[in-house]
Amino acid sequence: MHKIKLLLFSALCLTVHSVAAQYKNTSGQMNVFVTNLMKRMTLDEKIGQLNLLTPGGGIVTGAVVSKDVESKIKAGNVGGLFGVIGVHKIRQAQQIAVNNTRLKIPLIFGSDIIHGYKTTFPIPLGLSCSWDMAMIERSARVAASEATADGLCWAFSPMVDIARDPRWGRMAEGAGEDPYLGAQVAKAMVKGYQGNNLAANNTLIACVKHFALYGAAEGGRDYNTVDMSRVKMYEYYLPPYKAAVDAGTGSVMTSFNEIDGIPATGNKWLLTDLLRRQWGFDGFVVTDYTSINEMIDHGSGDLQHVSAMSLKAGTDMDMVGEGFLTTLKKSLKEGKVTQQQIDAACKRVLEAKYKLGLFEDPFRYCDTVRAAKEVLSTVNRQASREFALRSAVLLKNNNQTLPLKKNGSIALIGPLANNKTNMLGTWAVSGDVELSIPVLEGMKNVGGTGVNIRYAKGANLTDDTMLAKRANVFGMRADVDSLPPDKLLKQAIETANGSDVIVAIVGEASEMSGEAASRSDISLPESQQKLIEALAKTGKPLVMVLMSGRPLTISKETRLATSLLHVWFQGHEAGNSIADLLFGNYNPSGKLTMTFPLNVGQIPVYYNHKRTGRPQPAGETQKFRSNYLDVSNDPLFPFGYGLSYTSFNYSNIQLSDTQMIQSGKITATVNVTNTGNYDGEEVVQLYIHDPVASVTQPVKKLKAFQKIALKKGESKQVRFTITAEELKFYNSDLKWVTEPGAFTLMIGTSSADVKTASFTLLK
Ligand code: BGC
Repeated sequence: MHKIKLLLFSALCLTVHSVAAQYKNTSGQMNVFVTNLMKRMTLDEKIGQLNLLTPGGGIVTGAVVSKDVESKIKAGNVGGLFGVIGVHKIRQAQQIAVNNTRLKIPLIFGSDIIHGYKTTFPIPLGLSCSWDMAMIERSARVAASEATADGLCWAFSPMVDIARDPRWGRMAEGAGEDPYLGAQVAKAMVKGYQGNNLAANNTLIACVKHFALYGAAEGGRDYNTVDMSRVKMYEYYLPPYKAAVDAGTGSVMTSFNEIDGIPATGNKWLLTDLLRRQWGFDGFVVTDYTSINEMIDHGSGDLQHVSAMSLKAGTDMDMVGEGFLTTLKKSLKEGKVTQQQIDAACKRVLEAKYKLGLFEDPFRYCDTVRAAKEVLSTVNRQASREFALRSAVLLKNNNQTLPLKKNGSIALIGPLANNKTNMLGTWAVSGDVELSIPVLEGMKNVGGTGVNIRYAKGANLTDDTMLAKRANVFGMRADVDSLPPDKLLKQAIETANGSDVIVAIVGEASEMSGEAASRSDISLPESQQKLIEALAKTGKPLVMVLMSGRPLTISKETRLATSLLHVWFQGHEAGNSIADLLFGNYNPSGKLTMTFPLNVGQIPVYYNHKRTGRPQPAGETQKFRSNYLDVSNDPLFPFGYGLSYTSFNYSNIQLSDTQMIQSGKITATVNVTNTGNYDGEEVVQLYIHDPVASVTQPVKKLKAFQKIALKKGESKQVRFTITAEELKFYNSDLKWVTEPGAFTLMIGTSSADVKTASFTLLK
């Protein structure tokens, strides 16, 4: 018996070993290796490499789930899989590929690793509010390390779509509204995922998405059409994708929308002229979920036509739709695509596998020992807590109500106060909600025994059953309490009345933002508005902690609350990190990366807007000026805004010169002093305005920032260097140029609170 087992084991080792040996690349040259391999491949096998399937099981984001995946793998019809989670399942699937196919080509395994892998971090919008690129890079590094131990080698991230419309639910996955900041985040994420060596067993291929302009969907309605000028694209929407390409992203995912009337997935200008020719991208392009097939509904033609169109445009891999698999052979016969086009796509997919080292060892990312040690490890959870601290933004703090004292009694109230299922936020496909720390637990952990924490739910997340149903699509997020709303409210008021201070944990359910979660009304659900109003009436200090995946219209609640802390969705350690913030174990240092509108009618409202010929004079409303009759032009909270428990003073802004030659530079300095009672961190922001240009320029553009730490009472001089690069813009020939003349430089604590200085760029 023992002998038989041994024999079987050696046979298995031999199979695995021979696969690795067969593909060991002795010449060390990817090109030689891939070309030789492709010489042995049939047309069907080549087309098979272009096919990416999902057997289902995880969160499925489209209407279709792939069928007969196992037999398709065996037939050589599959290049990669996603939605397979766990090292054992991935090993099994890889075994099917390398043991049963003629050429034993390994599969590539992808997943939506969006904000952490199994250990879940704050949502990307939250991470961006840290303005801490080293931390953001580290968050991708930790996620890559966990995911690769668990069998994965390809992350469908970063999502870098610029968003100016908070109705669009997917803005939770991005870095907000600014192209410069978005580009820094894109770069940091790619570096974090890919490291310096893709062949290392703890790095994976990044996939920047959704190329392109997906965040500009009309009306903020997901999957809706997009239309914009080239100048706007180049200046405001494309920089983050370009930054990811420059940082070496190994793959790019197309977007669902059209560009200039041609769906991105079949847009040759986008995928070949811009991406490959202008930007020099040399990785592979994958479609979004069935986005080739969806071109039929866009009105571009039948499946055969749109598949050929997509391949010819520059797509290499077809996600789920099987348009390539089922039509490319026919199109080749009919002369609608060429052999070279199929070969080029196949080569790029094989190159990615080569770079990952999959040919040398198809199981290199299946490391059960490392998976057991690293996945959900204590250090990763600690990292999650730290990332969460740095992502929160303090929006109001009257009477220094925060930080809370660790004595007396606190009424902890709200539908998100003792809840696990909403802590992770949207797109946590591998995160287990049950492993989340609820705020109540965190407050007890951090507050200690000296403080009396009294909990009441106060309200349902929403009383709107339709909204609740849609928020519950991936599991219960918005439950309806067995107690009627008025009883819940009564309990909350009683609890509040008997306490020194109220902490209300309110906001959206996690799936009220994310994919296919657009909202036309982005206020706090009515049940919670009533709760806040009732709590404010008690006259007790009211600290409002807000969770959401987008800016909300919260003017009324902002007025009613004494203090307001926005925490987004913080991930697994939410309860602990929120308590750390509230009790002052960490002093908030985040700044908004997205403008908060006063109301939906103001949208789009963003800081880097153009001037008009009829500007609104400050502090006045005049007829025949660009304004609204019923609401101010100013937002509730501007881009770059965020408070601290301490205060910072900016003084003495100085330039090294008031003139600059094209090849020269100017140094701008400003003194920042911590004038409050706590040590703290401040994001010092630098904006530039070009008042006269051949293409009119926005009122300001973020061009640099530094996050500095200042001890109580400490001062630092912060220094920025300006070169011609910071003064450039895209002209109407889409050239990245400077034009001589006057410039205004602004440095400050937010986009709306800056000190200015001027200089001239000489001819
Ligand atoms: C989303 C992508 C995602 C893909 C795979 C799509 O619906 O738009 O962002 O990577 O599904 O899950």
